[in-house]
Amino acid sequence: MQKKIIVTGGSGMIGSCLKDIVINDNNNWFFLSSKDCDLTNIDSVNELFTKIQPDYVIHLAANVGGLFKNLRERTKIFTDNIRMNENILEACNNHNVEKGVFCLSSCIFPHKPSKYPMNETMMHESEPHSSNEGYAYSKRMMEMQCRNYNQQYNRKYICLIPVNLYGPYDNFNLEDSHVIPGLIHRLYNAIENNGDFQMYGTGKPLRQFVYSYDFSRIILKTLFEYNDTKSIICCNDEISIKDLTYLISNTMGYDTDKITNDASKSDGCLKKTVDGSYFKKIYPEFKYRSLEDGIKETVSWFKENYDNCRK
Ligand code: NAP
Ligand code: GDP
Repeated sequence: MQKKIIVTGGSGMIGSCLKDIVINDNNNWFFLSSKDCDLTNIDSVNELFTKIQPDYVIHLAANVGGLFKNLRERTKIFTDNIRMNENILEACNNHNVEKGVFCLSSCIFPHKPSKYPMNETMMHESEPHSSNEGYAYSKRMMEMQCRNYNQQYNRKYICLIPVNLYGPYDNFNLEDSHVIPGLIHRLYNAIENNGDFQMYGTGKPLRQFVYSYDFSRIILKTLFEYNDTKSIICCNDEISIKDLTYLISNTMGYDTDKITNDASKSDGCLKKTVDGSYFKKIYPEFKYRSLEDGIKETVSWFKENYDNCRK
């Protein structure tokens, strides 16, 4: 039977990829941006749910950004996300939404865990890294609330835990973006201006990355195929920021000998290595796109959409 499915954050990176993927799907999709409904406002959220009466919800909307935005806007990031998540969850339950997919992040894990790689059971073990404390605690609270709704009201509100995401439709803003879109945009400027290039920080931190379309496909599998409520980590291989910078430079044709670094800029968390074995167990056939291929696609997309992309 055709389902009505709300996608919050439908204008963001993951929402836009999802929209591309479901273009021929028969369900009734509602991709929403903040212009359609400000999710921090409970009255607007209730009005939205009363109007649409969704069967399923995919909650992607968030006040999100890279390390430097998190350091700069820690209070607003916490408040916006706590409000949005709470409003959406309450509306889902009040309107009898049976199933939903909710988006956490690997940066909510402890920064001094008892072991690496961290698995789904370790999220609340100890405090997250201070660089993104506001974001991390708002997401941790959403996980706790999903679990409580599932227990008390027999819902299926499932949390996915992706590592750093990147790809087409990302935010390439020079101040607010995550590392991959930030490096791509800044290298693009360096190439255009025949200028120097500085990687931020020491280059030593390690990060895992998942391509935006891969994560969107996982969201669909979770919504339509997954019958458990256990949270799922979605991750790919790990790379240092330095090697990542060289990979992107080589892809874009920038001479790596000209790269220096600005060690006065924060490194953020040194590593947050997570364990993807539960995901592998439930979806053994799923293949992540390699970082090399994903970077190529993202660089091409950025160049082709330079005039209109978020930057
Ligand atoms: P994004 O590109 O930054 O998009 C954010 C979305 O949230 C936009 O559609 C935005 O709408 C919407 N939004 C923001 N504030 C809102 C408000 N007050 N009311 C309604 N909508 C609002 O995000 P993304 O990268 O696709 O991330 C999707 C999810 O994955 C998020 O939950 C994020 O926390 C999580 N995640 C992201 C990463 C990553 O590296 N990007 C990593 C791990 C987890 P407008 O377009 O109207 O502003
Ligand atoms: P995080 O994974 O939550 O820390 O956020 P980011 O995706 O912003 O990654 C930050 C890491 O990349 C830090 O170690 C930064 O020092 C490093 N980095 C190097 N160059 C850049 C850049 O141009 N932009 C960003 N956001 N980070 C950079």
